Amino acid sequence: MFDRASVVTPGGVNSPVRAFRAVGGTPRFMVSGTGPYLTDADGREYVDLVCSWGPMILGHSHPEVIAAVQEAVSRGTSFGTPGEGEVALAEEIVARIEPVEQVRLVSSGTEATMSAIRLARGFTGRAKVVKFAGCYHGHVDALLAAAGSGVATFGLPDTPGVTGATAGDTVVLPYNDLDAVRAAFAAHPGEIACVITEASPGNMGVVPPADGFNAGLKELCAANGALYISDEVMTGFRTSKAGWYGVDGVRPDLMTFGKVMGGGFPAAAFGGRADVMAHLAPAGPVYQAGTLSGNPVATAAGLAQLRLLDDAAYAKIDAVSAELRSLVGDALTKEGVAHTVSAASNMFSVFFTDQPVRNYDDAKQQDVFRFTAFFHSMLEQGVYLPPSAFESWFVSTAHDERAVERVAAALPAAARAASEATA
Ligand code: PLP
Repeated sequence: MFDRASVVTPGGVNSPVRAFRAVGGTPRFMVSGTGPYLTDADGREYVDLVCSWGPMILGHSHPEVIAAVQEAVSRGTSFGTPGEGEVALAEEIVARIEPVEQVRLVSSGTEATMSAIRLARGFTGRAKVVKFAGCYHGHVDALLAAAGSGVATFGLPDTPGVTGATAGDTVVLPYNDLDAVRAAFAAHPGEIACVITEASPGNMGVVPPADGFNAGLKELCAANGALYISDEVMTGFRTSKAGWYGVDGVRPDLMTFGKVMGGGFPAAAFGGRADVMAHLAPAGPVYQAGTLSGNPVATAAGLAQLRLLDDAAYAKIDAVSAELRSLVGDALTKEGVAHTVSAASNMFSVFFTDQPVRNYDDAKQQDVFRFTAFFHSMLEQGVYLPPSAFESWFVSTAHDERAVERVAAALPAAARAASEATA
């Protein structure tokens, strides 16, 4: 299948990290998923610790989500008109996340951050955007400077195709460094439209904000007439019922969402202060649109998923995450492998270094070759990890004792492989 794909698709994939280039080997083509398991084209089953990079928070093929999708599909797949599903999904988001007074639905996280930045620029009449090295906000041209995720994986500091003019208004700063943000506001008075940050970064591996970092960003933005944009595409509806906002309570001006809110379909959103959102077309002058925005099937999937995510669901995900973190940490310690298990609520990743990781430069100091050996050993034993040392691991409500036991059984050999690996 990969050979076939490589003929008709650049690199054989539709999103770079899937190609396994960071870890080598042939990517697995998955044909089905049930609960915590994926099955590949050769019929091999894996415990899935990627969960479609976050969306599958109830596991695969959850019966209630599938039923909602089937019911929606039976009524038609796209109308290009307003519909009740998108209103209900917007109401659910607004009800869960208090700073979101109004929300606009789009189809991908990239669209959400791109549109939020356009809105921030339109609202403030300013051009510059501050972002942090290692934070990934989708493949928005202006934000592909020192981005994490696939850009981290491939070490592409800048991508060809993004012009100097497009990236020229982007100010990239080290993560967790408020002094750098203060200095940027001092260097560009009246020019910065917004600061965009991952609410708690997961795209350089999991690197949570230091105490007071997000609050400091909010304060500096307010003092300088800029908007504070919290990108919750990854953390939204995952790290708590109200995402990372539910964890740290820092109130953004604008927020972006994706992944979990689409229930495995392309649905994403941006929202926030009503006075800012009022600048969006057709209410205001800042243009934004989408043929499939608010798609009835995607919104039905998202709504069904969100309605199932109650306190008990988050308690379960948190508990499974804690159990896996401790199992992984113990296995690596036993083999004498230098590591740091880094967690932000139920999101976590393993850095193969014992040094503290507070930003992207720290994350890059890890022994990536040890991750590679660890990854392949786990894969051979039927555990599907993100194929990169710079990604979060994800679990779901479907990860039961049997799935955890299968991961536990694979860990000793994988830890040994990491220990024996050479650069
Ligand atoms: N923002 C964050 C924090 C993300 O993690 C991602 C994707 O991983 C995006 C934005 C882009 O979302 P999408 O891949 O849906 O375009």
